[in-house]
Amino acid sequence: MRVTPFDAWIAAATGRSGHSGQTPDPARLADWQLAALGRSLDHARSAPFYRDRLAHLPAGFPDSLPAFAALPTTTPEELAASFPRFLAVSQDAIARMVTVATSGTTGPPKRMGLTDADIEETLDCFRVVMAVTLAPGETVLILFPAEKSDSVGDLIGRGMRLLGAKPVFGDPTGNPARLAEALLAHRPQSLIAAPSQLLAALDDMPAMDAARASLRSVVYASDYLSPALRNKTAARFGCRVFDYYSATEMAYGGGMECEAGGGYHLREAQLYFEVLDPDSNAPVADGEVGEVVFTTLTRRGVPLVRYRTGDAARMLPGPCPCGSPLRRLGPILGRINRTGAGWTVGNPDKGRGTP
Ligand SMILES: [Zn+2]
Repeated sequence: MRVTPFDAWIAAATGRSGHSGQTPDPARLADWQLAALGRSLDHARSAPFYRDRLAHLPAGFPDSLPAFAALPTTTPEELAASFPRFLAVSQDAIARMVTVATSGTTGPPKRMGLTDADIEETLDCFRVVMAVTLAPGETVLILFPAEKSDSVGDLIGRGMRLLGAKPVFGDPTGNPARLAEALLAHRPQSLIAAPSQLLAALDDMPAMDAARASLRSVVYASDYLSPALRNKTAARFGCRVFDYYSATEMAYGGGMECEAGGGYHLREAQLYFEVLDPDSNAPVADGEVGEVVFTTLTRRGVPLVRYRTGDAARMLPGPCPCGSPLRRLGPILGRINRTGAGWTVGNPDKGRGTP
């Protein structure tokens, strides 16, 4: 089993001093993240929303991670309702504006703005994510729409070229006959898709045969992956299945399973993750289920501070069976459901929204 490529990436991005070779040291990483949180809070206060909310912070804040954990969280509703006030750069510096349709709610949609530098970081993230299962020179079939420049499929394709792999694009509707055709034409080693895009093909014999002829892995992204669909995919397509954790607000990159499975190695040099008790907003102990919350460490366009994802998961302390000493985020268990008397985990299939 290979150690996740996230480790060398994180060690390089956070400075090698204190890390041994390509292996990050968890304590050194925590120190680096604390300093990066301070820089990110300074930058966030360029945005009117955080300038108002975080005006009272003393110089040098935070001096510890518990001090940081006392800050208020940011909700998706706040991002939707006050969007332009979340911009920390001028409108001219935003290279891509993203609108996220929110199902089942009224009110303004969520919006996100990415600068060129933010997009470069996302491409680099895609490169490392797919290095888990794809080697330079190999081919990957992408089902996310890619016609428009900077669309999700286009960004994934550009990340694959950074890896030295060859991206090809398939029919985003998930039509089984067209999927089989693309698999036979390109003979990709890997396939990237949302769970909903493969539902029909997993019951289609020609698509199954075509998948078995070349695929080594399927990487699922953008929505909740149930254990049943994971097992069905592995059995019907005869390949490994990897779950990739992301959200639009994470600029499409959160974490990726390694060959050991069972949790996501996190994008620790760009995002700081916490798992909170949804009632008290206090961090829960490793291993306990709570709401996943993240803070951007290097984002330019729309920095987010303790942003609530609504996803339920637990943090798994390191080391990972793959050899990484770093923590992982356990599989997403579903959505945090607030009730009058507290909270439950439910509605996993509602997912996090397709980017
Ligand atoms: Zn691992």
